[in-house]
Amino acid sequence: MADCLFCKIRDGQIPATKVHEDDLCFAIRDIKPQAPTHILVIPKRHISTLNDVQAEDAPLVGHLLVVAKTIAAGEGHGEPGWRTVFNVNEQAGQTVFHIHLHVLGGRAFGWPPG
Ligand code: 5GP
Ligand code: ZN
Repeated sequence: MADCLFCKIRDGQIPATKVHEDDLCFAIRDIKPQAPTHILVIPKRHISTLNDVQAEDAPLVGHLLVVAKTIAAGEGHGEPGWRTVFNVNEQAGQTVFHIHLHVLGGRAFGWPPG
């Protein structure tokens, strides 16, 4: 996708601190962290929002969750806990329209989220 921030980061056109990469996805530290750990797990394939995910994408989306869990554990958040979020469209706070799973840890989180 020509004008997509995360496609550009994937392709090395914009720098980011990468903490994971495999055939299907990569993970970077968020530029404006909302917690001591704030990492984005991003599929290499451009998908604009979670609304665009199809049944055949289930293995990919499941993979993102397994990577998120592994990263959270590696950062030391498996215990006491961590938060993962997909924002979907503007009203929910999505600002980059290439799906990404937020991985947040290192502080207490309130519920419901703002
Ligand atoms: P969203 O609001 O779409 O759910 O999440 C987008 C996230 O991308 C935000 O948390 C924002 O701080 C992060 N972000 C925006 N631009 C950049 C950037 O250039 N580099 C990195 N690493 N993160 C970014
Ligand atoms: Zn993209």
